[in-house]
Amino acid sequence: MADPTPTFEKISPPAGERITIGRTRLRVPDNPIIPFVTGDGIGPDIMRASKRVWDAAVEKAFEGKKKIAWFEIYAGEMAMEKYGVPMPKDSLEAIKHFIVAIKGPLTTPVGGGIRSLNVAFRQLLELYACVRPVRWYRGVPSPVKRPKALDVVIYRENTEDVYSGIEYQQGTPEAKRVRDFLVNEMGAKIREDSGIGIKPISITGTKRLVRKAIRYAIQSKRHSVTLVHKGNIMKFTEGAFRDWGYEVAREEFADETITEQELWDKHGGEMPKGKILIKDRIADSMFQQVLTRPDEYDVVAMPNLNGDYMSDACAAQVGGLGMAPGANIGDWVALFEATHGTAPKYAGKDMVNPGSLMLSGVMMLEYLGWKKAAKMVQRALEKTIKQKVVTYDLERQMKGATKVSTSEFASAIIANMG
Ligand code: NAP
Repeated sequence: MADPTPTFEKISPPAGERITIGRTRLRVPDNPIIPFVTGDGIGPDIMRASKRVWDAAVEKAFEGKKKIAWFEIYAGEMAMEKYGVPMPKDSLEAIKHFIVAIKGPLTTPVGGGIRSLNVAFRQLLELYACVRPVRWYRGVPSPVKRPKALDVVIYRENTEDVYSGIEYQQGTPEAKRVRDFLVNEMGAKIREDSGIGIKPISITGTKRLVRKAIRYAIQSKRHSVTLVHKGNIMKFTEGAFRDWGYEVAREEFADETITEQELWDKHGGEMPKGKILIKDRIADSMFQQVLTRPDEYDVVAMPNLNGDYMSDACAAQVGGLGMAPGANIGDWVALFEATHGTAPKYAGKDMVNPGSLMLSGVMMLEYLGWKKAAKMVQRALEKTIKQKVVTYDLERQMKGATKVSTSEFASAIIANMG
């Protein structure tokens, strides 16, 4: 039985159907209701442009047989105006119920009692995997010689590690209590004037993340999954992440995967056809490897902090955050998002690059199984950049480019859809 539609306080869903969860995959109707958060600052500019592009691609790819029923929900400043709180229950309920949603960037209200709305979304909806595909689009200026060689999909654990918010400020009774326990009862050495943060990494958190990364690698016919960790130093957290990651591969995907050790011991270094290679790298070495041997990496899975650094470092390598898409995904619920912020100085100027949000929509279309529409957006965007028709941020780095507004960029992309 499908769950009944929740009773919303201040919003009502449009005509359309709900995406549901099947035995092994999502069941997506031809007119799925998809909630979206416009976002603050430049959010309205990039959401307006991106929705035009996604709608045009869906229309063209499926000859009008499919159409997204957009359902506006609120967070951030627009939610403050409508509800008086930055993260209304209506929005969380809508995302949970309709399963797939997309959002623009959000300003975190100062003194609102919430550290970050994005972190709140991840934690409240149990969106444990932060997924960031990083690849180069021909024509995008990059600081490296061979940007095309990097084509990775990063799976970053989203709910634990030093980000779990267990921190005690130096000088407080709480910090003193934690320190006293660790020093007196556990024999730890900690300076008296320390702030203290706790880094939990669990079997549950690790395995569900690595499982998702391996499943993705299998479904997308990728070649390898690399576990990135700092296990040489933090053996029981980062080292355990590596060990539990290998355990998932061995216990749940034995037929589809082999380890690097097995590759050499049993196959003389010759990769058997159709298998996914599971390997691991220490985080600092991995930062070198993505620069020096980028083509050796494919899907990469890592704990929260490593993933945070690695996602932006890789994005910089292919031309920066302006074009980097992202998603936060749980068992089924998925929230796709622009990875940059609200860039308030450009708000309402119809000026910025909508690429990050547009490509997050490409990920969303793929997640729906609407691959034809996803490809159409991706190809048309690439073609437009190749024609050097770009927004200000790329134009200032490209010789002979034509600078266009956000909305003109969207129109050029639509015109380039075959
Ligand atoms: P930001 O909004 O990402 O902007 C920093 C700079 O990045 C901009 O001034 C602009 O650089 C460039 N930029 C960002 N998006 C662009 C786009 N679409 N097209 C072209 N250039 C773009 O970072 P911030 O100024 O540090 O943060 C502003 C607010 O955003 C803060 O309230 C922060 O909390 C929030 N934030 C939200 C998210 C999120 O919702 N996911 C993420 C990060 C930050 P130039 O001026 O050099 O052109």
